[in-house]
Amino acid sequence: MEFKPFKKKVWLSTPTMHGEELEYVRKAYETNWMSTVGENINEVERISAEFVGVKHAVGLACGTAALHLAIKLAGVKRGDRVFATDMTFAATVNPIVYEGAIPVFIDSEYDTWNMDPEALERAFELYPDTKVVMLANLYGTPSKLDEIVDICNKHGAILIEDAAESLGATYKGKQTGSFGTLGIISFNGNKIITGSSGGVLLTNDAECAAKARKWSTQSRENAPWYQHEELGYNYRMSNVIAGVVRGQYPHLGEHIAEKRAIYERYREGLKGLPVSMNPYDTETMVPNFWLSCLLIDKDGMCEQTRTDKLASFVHESGKSCPTEILETLAAYNAEGRPIWKPMHMQPIYKDCPFVTRKGDGRALEAQRTGDIPFGCAEDIFERGLCLPSDNKMTPEEQDVIIALIRKCFE
Ligand SMILES: *Cc1c(COP(=O)(O)O)cnc(C)c1O
Repeated sequence: MEFKPFKKKVWLSTPTMHGEELEYVRKAYETNWMSTVGENINEVERISAEFVGVKHAVGLACGTAALHLAIKLAGVKRGDRVFATDMTFAATVNPIVYEGAIPVFIDSEYDTWNMDPEALERAFELYPDTKVVMLANLYGTPSKLDEIVDICNKHGAILIEDAAESLGATYKGKQTGSFGTLGIISFNGNKIITGSSGGVLLTNDAECAAKARKWSTQSRENAPWYQHEELGYNYRMSNVIAGVVRGQYPHLGEHIAEKRAIYERYREGLKGLPVSMNPYDTETMVPNFWLSCLLIDKDGMCEQTRTDKLASFVHESGKSCPTEILETLAAYNAEGRPIWKPMHMQPIYKDCPFVTRKGDGRALEAQRTGDIPFGCAEDIFERGLCLPSDNKMTPEEQDVIIALIRKCFE
């Protein structure tokens, strides 16, 4: 079969608006609450807390701001170590460094692609004085939350749950974002619902919520003038942005259903190829299916070479690789994306510790022989990719994407 490139680009994941968003934005405009105060913010906070099932939500400028305040609320100080998901978006870990702390990257596991509880346990053996764990739920799939929460409790560590990608996903019937002492969600433009930007901090602790609200508005004290006793930030959510988020919330369930249909269509359509979809435990988890991802079997991989900034491959019949599939999709005007490159592989984080279930990953890495990927996260980065997962993609367009992927294996 021959295909022509898509006339209209098929995207990875873009905003999907419904109309109510504009009404709430218009109301903010007409009532002149064009500010970081207003009814839309109050409503986004109320709805977020109620939906996730926590007592308090604080509306902020973005998910990264929420993570930064969470790190501060967890009491992280200069020089402290924080255990963090290795394979994630850099926004999960950058706020650790904003506070002068040291991220210790924890390898992933193959069942959910999230933080490996065994590696986390190993990290507590290596660095027993660590008091904070930063956990991300990748691509909308919950982590092994029972195990992670138990390990944190056992070691008296505070869990921060980065649910930026997993809003609406549940673990044993409970919403992600509610498992840590502190949680965050993001309304960035490509997330499952969006305000174009924005985020919230989630907590059951009234004092934490009050502090976050104060810090996010430049830490003003209760005084007739601008009195400051603490460092402040300009991190508050805009009432205009909040209007968009407020209008999106009623459509979250619909977006999840669409994303799920896309995931299942790929799973069916790619049957027979040496590939699998991003996995989850059907007994305990309902993901939000934010991004559909593919993992190519080890023996289905053709030769692929990646340097710090370039990728190349050698085509081989019956085999393929993420680079070949991504380049093919791009040639037909469809957008895929590599898996988040693990943080321990990033030049900026090359000196930070990295722990796998076998122990100190950096020490083991030094003994690495040949080009066999090291650790689980690195292996998934090598063999995995994110597929076009836009909920406005039509079944016909998705069929072409599937056929293009099949073609790569011919
Ligand atoms: C998007 C994202 C964030 C950051 O959210 P922003 O609102 O863009 O600041 C943090 N963590 C993860 C895992 C994300 O995907």
